[in-house]
Amino acid sequence: MNPVEVHWQGLEADLADYLTKKGITPSCRAGCSACCWGLVTLSRLEGEALLPHLSQAQRSRLLEEGPKRLALLREGKDDPRFPSRYFLSRTPCPLLEEGLCGVYPWRPLACRGLLTQGDPRLCQPEAGRQQGHFLPAPWRMARLRLEAVWEEEKRRYGFLVLGELATLLYLLLSGFPQEREEAEALLEELGILGGWWGFQVT
Ligand code: SF4
Repeated sequence: MNPVEVHWQGLEADLADYLTKKGITPSCRAGCSACCWGLVTLSRLEGEALLPHLSQAQRSRLLEEGPKRLALLREGKDDPRFPSRYFLSRTPCPLLEEGLCGVYPWRPLACRGLLTQGDPRLCQPEAGRQQGHFLPAPWRMARLRLEAVWEEEKRRYGFLVLGELATLLYLLLSGFPQEREEAEALLEELGILGGWWGFQVT
């Protein structure tokens, strides 16, 4: 099995185990999708694991939506408040379909780790940052898996690429360079390398 899929499934099992042992029932429900309006970061390897599972309609949507996200990122990457502005604009993830994740079994680790048992109204952008609203342990569990995937990507390519989900999937669908220098040159040319929220190549 693809190593990323191993981490997707492993995190699901770990989360189920943790929530059962702690007696926690998340208030997250199908159709509740405010967290899908936020800025989600993806690594290249996780994006590549997701690509084979995309439908033709999802690919077309990403190819259409990608340039718009890219322009937003170019304009906002150096603004420390960009994620708040982005969230408040309620720009849904292009993979969100009628309030449901269209790639649910293959959604990124960052999406899986965001859980709450609090009032879902506090997930809305207007609620602002609510300390302790999201469960810390699931996020830490997701973070550990993310770091393992990043290490795997570095082993495979010699470098790591991290960037906004829709923009990165768009670039992967359009043909992303295999070599570090070419990748950095492309991201620089597109105006989305570095800054607070631009793509990171490490
Ligand atoms: S991939 Fe799915 S869960 Fe993650 S932000 Fe997009 S629609 Fe939401």
